Amino acid sequence: MTEIIDGNAVAESVRGDVAAAVDELEAAGVTPRLATVLMSTDPASETYVSMKQNDCEEVGIATADAELDPEAPAEELYDTIEELNADDDVDGVLVQMPTPDHVDSGRVLRSLDPEKDVDGLHPENIGRLVAGETRYKPCTPHGVQVLLEEAGVDPEGKEAVVVGRSRLVGKPMANLLIQKAEGGNATTTVCHSRTADLAARTREADILVAAAGVPGMIDASMVKDGAVVVDVGINQVDVSEQGSEGSQTKSDEADNEKGYELVGDVDFESVRETASAITPVPGGVGPMTRAMLLYNTVTAASLRSGVDVSL
Ligand code: NAD
Repeated sequence: MTEIIDGNAVAESVRGDVAAAVDELEAAGVTPRLATVLMSTDPASETYVSMKQNDCEEVGIATADAELDPEAPAEELYDTIEELNADDDVDGVLVQMPTPDHVDSGRVLRSLDPEKDVDGLHPENIGRLVAGETRYKPCTPHGVQVLLEEAGVDPEGKEAVVVGRSRLVGKPMANLLIQKAEGGNATTTVCHSRTADLAARTREADILVAAAGVPGMIDASMVKDGAVVVDVGINQVDVSEQGSEGSQTKSDEADNEKGYELVGDVDFESVRETASAITPVPGGVGPMTRAMLLYNTVTAASLRSGVDVSL
């Protein structure tokens, strides 16, 4: 029987732990605070930011909200980051990506105070992760690691294959999986757009993490019997593009009303026949990414204040 790994349930449990840690901080006189910075009028980006703020409220994390005109000079964004870096009441700073084309997104990440970089994407934090001196694990790969743990999947000694090598997901995911630490110790292969025979690689995987951003690209023929399959992909697909038999991945009615649905990189219906466990889209990795941002924000507040919390 294939296990459908329920990201919503695991995220709920992480939020419970975070809320308890917030109480511990509050008892010591510390209010954790996340500042979000939005320089976009893209509805998806606006939605992501408001969801992150709501998530914070739910667990007792205070928020600060900076909104910049997408046409404003890039310097305004860099200055905002400097101000938030200097603001002692702010523990974490999240700049919603993508930023407009005239902004140097690399500079944005480098400008963040590494101690407030709760996305874990500053070069110092990436370096610390690679060196095994992790400060903040980037939210999505961290969420995948926690999902695996909660599903009782120990990567130690297993063959893990990560499809995708982005700074945001693929690279930190692979680094977490090879770490000599709990939730790591896998023999890990990273595949990408220039990989010669992708299916030959993915078929080796005991744990397959798909993070390519290509709808439904991983089908059952690419998955070993009994593999654990984690689908990071979130792709908007026009509902009219779907065949008459409908989507092969999960969707919800709200998406259909908008004329699109969200699908993963994994052909859910075929792969669920082969895999021993699989994450759905939506309801798999997505909620975990949001939960791990809360986790990192509380960790930041704990590190900055010196108040230990039990996370
Ligand atoms: P990206 O575009 O930055 O990177 C995609 C990677 O996939 C690249 O390294 C590329 O080499 C590789 N790739 C692309 N096509 C490929 C192919 N045909 N074969 C093999 N490799 C291929 O994307 P990203 O930011 O890493 O995100 C990947 C996916 O994950 C997207 O669908 C994104 O929306 C989703 N995502 C989800 C969450 C979440 O919370 N669930 C978070 C971040 C990203």
